[in-house]
Amino acid sequence: MPIINTAKKSVKKNNQPPLRKEKKIRLTSRKPKIRKEFKRMTHPPQLLRGMKDILPADQKYWDFVRDKFFELSACYSFSRIDTPILEEEILFKRSIGDATDIVAKEMFNFLTLGGEKVVLRPEATASVARAYIEHGMINQPQPVKLAYMGPMFRYDRPQSGRQRQFHQVGWETIGEFNMAVDVQLIFMVYRFFQELGLNVTIGINSIGCGNCRPNYRKVLVDYYRGKRSKLCEDCRDRVNKNPLRVLDCKNPDCQELKSEAPQIVDWLCEECGGHFTKILEYLDELGVAYNLDPYLVRGLDYYTKTVFEVFSAELVEDGSRAPLALGGGGRYDSLIEMLGGRDVPACGVALGVERIVSLLKNSKIEAPIRYQPQVFLAQIGDQAKRKAFKLFEELRQEDIRVVEFFAKDSLKSQLEYADRLGVKYVLILGQKEVLDGTILLRDMEGGIQEIISLEKVVNELKKKFTKI
Ligand code: AMP
Repeated sequence: MPIINTAKKSVKKNNQPPLRKEKKIRLTSRKPKIRKEFKRMTHPPQLLRGMKDILPADQKYWDFVRDKFFELSACYSFSRIDTPILEEEILFKRSIGDATDIVAKEMFNFLTLGGEKVVLRPEATASVARAYIEHGMINQPQPVKLAYMGPMFRYDRPQSGRQRQFHQVGWETIGEFNMAVDVQLIFMVYRFFQELGLNVTIGINSIGCGNCRPNYRKVLVDYYRGKRSKLCEDCRDRVNKNPLRVLDCKNPDCQELKSEAPQIVDWLCEECGGHFTKILEYLDELGVAYNLDPYLVRGLDYYTKTVFEVFSAELVEDGSRAPLALGGGGRYDSLIEMLGGRDVPACGVALGVERIVSLLKNSKIEAPIRYQPQVFLAQIGDQAKRKAFKLFEELRQEDIRVVEFFAKDSLKSQLEYADRLGVKYVLILGQKEVLDGTILLRDMEGGIQEIISLEKVVNELKKKFTKI
């Protein structure tokens, strides 16, 4: 252990000048005692309800989902877009709809100091549509294909699989009516889950357009009119305001009534019927596992024609509890115009990352490790530590995946750590090696140890890894 000298001041009782007294202080890694200049909180602050930290142990799953999502995005020519988390409240009121739960009950809204009515975005489709209009993306070659990932906020009752802050990844294709757009998005979702190693089924329906949906809405209201008393309180209200939402209600009484309700497929106009049939034909040909769900409506005001939801195949078969959707999407041919843009069709999908991560973990799927260390660089003594800092950078610059534990002086602690990481090689640099201009290279699998020149170590390691 290196030793340094300092002088301690002392004052003599008779007011003589202080004597300089030599004292030896050890440079240890023990935490120095420092007088606290703050007051310790008696109750440490805690997470807000419905919010979660994403801890290091889970990050490999998040990387897996993120990497797969952006890899597929690039393959299918989707460009990344990031929109702000805060938006004007009116954006969501107009697009998602006043009568939806998201807008009526779940918005994180507040007034800014400047008096603007803002919300933490509950979803990103409306924000992407706003960005499309605001940045004149209509002047680009159509369709414009955009991919996003980010946090969303809904002031819902927190429960398993439902948080107040959660994350979504999503794709939006704006500017094309062709049913190939819907097929491509559904197929991408299917492939995305397959490549993550998860089995999913896709529920699909068409909710028609402004021409055919009003007729269906009328027969639906007629159907529920005589049965209002049997509906839950929310749905009694919904029948008039947003009757399609009654089909979406999870209340068992409403579910039972739904089973006899008229189906929208019988009311689709020729254009919507043709669009839907073609999509199903393509999905059959592509081998996508889907279920026709005549009561799937998705509840948001902006959807037209195709709507779909993704579920874990395992949970659906289990049947013991209502399966949580992993994602959902559909066509929204009126949204851009609703928000003041031109009459531009679009289609999109959003997937919930927390639910995907939790399914990956429950399914015992191993997420690939992005940075599997190859070499551990150990050091003993101050001189070696100084040299090691530089050598670490040299190795890193040559793309050798090197790791260190410079905060520890003890070789034993460093080697234990190296062992836990499962590296192939350990480099050991001590006082003697620094003086000799050498370094020890230990092969952790074979147990062989060799002394090599410090100057040549980078090249030696490069050679070893190219051989592998
Ligand atoms: P939605 O925008 O409601 O269609 O949601 C799309 C997907 O986001 C859902 O299928 C879920 O996977 C996920 N999601 C929605 N709300 C929540 C929430 N409160 N907590 C966690 N994930 C959510």
